[in-house]
Amino acid sequence: MYPKLVINLKKLQDNLNACATITKDHGKCSLMIVTKGLCADKEMVNMLAESDVVDYIADSRVKNIATFAENARAHGKKTVLLRIPMHCEVEEVVKYVDLSFNSELSTIRLLNEEAGKAGKVHNILLMIDLGDLREGIFFQNEDLIFQAVEEILAMENINLYGIGVNLTCYGAIIPKYDNLSKLVEIGKKIEDKFGIKLEMVSGGNSSSIYLVDKGELPEGINNLRLGESFLLGNDTAYETKLPGTVSDALILQAQIIELKEKPSLPIGEVGVDAFGEKPYYEDRGIMKRAIIGIGKQDTDLGSMTPVDSQVEIMGGSSDHIILDVTHCDKEYKVGDIVEFELGYGGMLKTATSAYVEREYIR
Ligand SMILES: *Cc1c(COP(=O)(O)O)cnc(C)c1O
Repeated sequence: MYPKLVINLKKLQDNLNACATITKDHGKCSLMIVTKGLCADKEMVNMLAESDVVDYIADSRVKNIATFAENARAHGKKTVLLRIPMHCEVEEVVKYVDLSFNSELSTIRLLNEEAGKAGKVHNILLMIDLGDLREGIFFQNEDLIFQAVEEILAMENINLYGIGVNLTCYGAIIPKYDNLSKLVEIGKKIEDKFGIKLEMVSGGNSSSIYLVDKGELPEGINNLRLGESFLLGNDTAYETKLPGTVSDALILQAQIIELKEKPSLPIGEVGVDAFGEKPYYEDRGIMKRAIIGIGKQDTDLGSMTPVDSQVEIMGGSSDHIILDVTHCDKEYKVGDIVEFELGYGGMLKTATSAYVEREYIR
């Protein structure tokens, strides 16, 4: 059945090994693989759980982690929650998550309570905001950081596992030697002031990996968290391909449901489209237009690239995508399959859609 996401586990394994070579061999960091881009796909998680190079398996959603916690733990991997927990989910966090990222004392207090009830010690990573302005205690407010650490260290059922930063997500700030050194420095100050040792200083996501082979990852950063680098082979700071990775481990397939010659300009008064937007049309004369059975409900039109470079995406609505196949060497017909490589947004939406089937290549 189509549409279908074809997941090539062999290629993902190659991407994983390439990421591990850079992160662990060259960068002397532990490797946290992030599964949210593919909604913690079960087969992918099996591969990660069985891998020797993966140290932590992370996701932003507790619901995803709940599906793999048992499997990950059975293989000696810690489960990690990347998104700061909601108050309403602390019970599930303590149950399924071995290490959660945090920035709010009110939430950490609740985690402490829940961990106490469960007879556990829950690990947390305290997030520091170095200027990207998403989560974390702002780095310039060192007093607030120390106050938080002091209170956390007094909690009976919480272990301060380390500190971390996230960059290039909201503010699009690029990790550099300078800003990541700031994190290492804050970590050292915490260790000196409180006489403790932090197990983890986590230096970011797929936008930090480029620093390793440039020799610019500051000493003291000992963990990287990789989602997109593993799934799509990308360094997301400068959008380069990482050596040894491929971008086509995931392929979206959709079936042509209509193929007709029609004009390129709609006829009649132009209002707004199904999403309330005013469309723009270019007059290309009579065109060969193919409609495929997938739409904006299932994918992101701006984040998919036809494998046949002569196919062009014209636009779409909830359940349809219209392709210009006028200039294709291949004679497409109704029932044919069109293939696409995916970007991050396209991958996320196709993996989330209940209408997209999955097939695995092993
Ligand atoms: C999503 C996320 C990651 C992984 O990001 P990629 O760009 O896919 O590597 C790492 N850390 C946090 C906190 C995240 O939310």
